[in-house]
Amino acid sequence: MTQEETNISTLEKDLGAFRENLGTAEASGKRKWVFAKKTKGKYTTWRDIVSAILLILLFVVPFIRVHGNPLFMFDILSREFYIFGAYFSPTDSYLFAIGLVTTIVFVIVFTVIYGRIFCGWICPQTIFMENVFRKIEYWIEGDRNKQIRLSKQEWDSEKIRKRLLKFVIFALLSFIISNLLFSYVIGTEALGKLITEGPLEHFSGFIGIFVFSAAFYFIFGWFREQVCSFICPYGRLQGVLIDKDTVNIVYDFVRGEGMLGRAKWRKNEDRKSLGKGDCIDCDQCVVVCPAGIDIRNGNQLECVNCTACIDACDEVMVKIGFPTGLICYASENMIERRTKFRFTPRIIAYTAVLCVLIGVCMSLLFIRSSVESKFLKLPGTQYEMEGADTVVDEYQFTFINKTTDTKKLTVKIISPEKANLKMLNYSDNSLVIKPRGFIKGVAEIRMPKAELKREKEEIVIGTFDEQGNQVDTYTTTFIGPFKITF
Ligand code: SF4
Ligand code: SF4
Repeated sequence: MTQEETNISTLEKDLGAFRENLGTAEASGKRKWVFAKKTKGKYTTWRDIVSAILLILLFVVPFIRVHGNPLFMFDILSREFYIFGAYFSPTDSYLFAIGLVTTIVFVIVFTVIYGRIFCGWICPQTIFMENVFRKIEYWIEGDRNKQIRLSKQEWDSEKIRKRLLKFVIFALLSFIISNLLFSYVIGTEALGKLITEGPLEHFSGFIGIFVFSAAFYFIFGWFREQVCSFICPYGRLQGVLIDKDTVNIVYDFVRGEGMLGRAKWRKNEDRKSLGKGDCIDCDQCVVVCPAGIDIRNGNQLECVNCTACIDACDEVMVKIGFPTGLICYASENMIERRTKFRFTPRIIAYTAVLCVLIGVCMSLLFIRSSVESKFLKLPGTQYEMEGADTVVDEYQFTFINKTTDTKKLTVKIISPEKANLKMLNYSDNSLVIKPRGFIKGVAEIRMPKAELKREKEEIVIGTFDEQGNQVDTYTTTFIGPFKITF
């Protein structure tokens, strides 16, 4: 076997080996703790900036009010939802269904084009883990080597002090994150009451906060990267969502492996003419990886696209005087065909679909009516005759106020003109509905018999606000004594 064949066979064996093992588990199945090395570089800086902005937003948003309503609140227990300050009730469930379908399509289309950008830059799990908890860990225990040393050392005073400090800060942070979560569910006012009035008044609320605090401590203190590998469904879907044109963080295997594969760095060696790749097998991309994987093995579901390996490798490339970008954002096809990223018709078409979907969802959110009205035939009733010429039908009506303001409304028939509406117990068909409230009642519609052209007539009923704006329309059926004559 020639040297080249031996190298290729070793490489193939190495490349295949990673499939047999998890980066975060020993061969015996025991957890292999990941001690990720600190990184520095342009991606780390940008991610720090983006994370800081997102963290500030995350903590500020629950306090923002729009016309007195929370900007975002998802009170599942009381079934009250606020999106961009607009109130949504369970009667808007069709909007949630459309929103859910749009989100799923959005996630699929976005991932097909841009891979796991969300995981690395926006996902709260990554932001809290890498930019909050891990940074505190570096501050207390030091960088990778110091952490490894500390983990191996006896339980002396230094280890007890550092671990205790870490435990207290992590527990406190988990408690803060749990409160943050609750502020999105029950709102800052209810959370404030819960805190000031104490656990005796709000026992179940306190239990909830402590359960979530414990869950967050477990996730960020111990479970960590395993969330992305074993629990997050998005990570597990990568295998079916990405293809050879998906842009992800990848290792440029063509440049890195060359003809003879990666090889250790030797000063003053002409690697190109020897057929060696640009990867000097320094393992810096591996030791910085918070998922415990080797990016050089190709796309793996554990990779959260955190960019740490790009910065680590770029630093190495600069030191040895090679061009940066051996690990970069690219698709597999771009690496194979040596092309740069460009907006292909496919990407433009998919992006257009994404924009349309977002537009549709946003318009559905903002054009929905503030009041929902319904007029249904009163069950078990038939039309009645009032004298010889007037037909009367009875209806059960419902009005729902979908806002947090009191609504003063007037209801009238829009067509046919000759039909007449009378809402029993509401003089002049005027109603007042309290915020988020609803009204039920009975109404009569009178129609001259001569106006009935068919057995079932369509009646359009309009609801108007104080300013005379039509806020809702409902179309119901009027059933009369029409007879077919031949
Ligand atoms: S392989 Fe690179 S991008 Fe992926 S998780 Fe590891 S360090 Fe982050
Ligand atoms: S950091 Fe770059 S040069 Fe070093 S092993 Fe990773 S890919 Fe190769």
